[in-house]
Amino acid sequence: MPRPKQCRRVGLSPDSTYFKPAGIPTRSLQEIVLPIDGLEAMRLVDIEGLYQDQAAKRMGVSRRTFGRIIDSARTTVTRALVEGMALRIEGGAVEIIEERTFVCSDCQHIWKLPFGTGRPKACPRCQSTAFRRDDTV
Ligand SMILES: [Zn+2]
Repeated sequence: MPRPKQCRRVGLSPDSTYFKPAGIPTRSLQEIVLPIDGLEAMRLVDIEGLYQDQAAKRMGVSRRTFGRIIDSARTTVTRALVEGMALRIEGGAVEIIEERTFVCSDCQHIWKLPFGTGRPKACPRCQSTAFRRDDTV
């Protein structure tokens, strides 16, 4: 019996979920699906600059599972670009984190903000700009 899929914590909800080559009608395109956990894996490593073991922790999966998720996501995106396929972002065993958590490096204040509200300008307690995003706290 297959083990139930473990939910991966994901700190993003993508604004665009469908990408396709310009000027080609959708009906003549082949479509490939990028799961949301795959996009999150690439975001954590390629944009936030985390090491894979840190990113795995952030998503609540093992290092080995994370490696599989990100390898598969990169292959999917590369195939879409190289083979001119439409890319749909959806699905995956994910639990979307509704809020982002920030930690102030100066006063250690922790606060949460919903997605889509932009990056805060300063710590609401001490006005320091030395704070970081950390969804693990
Ligand atoms: Zn502060």
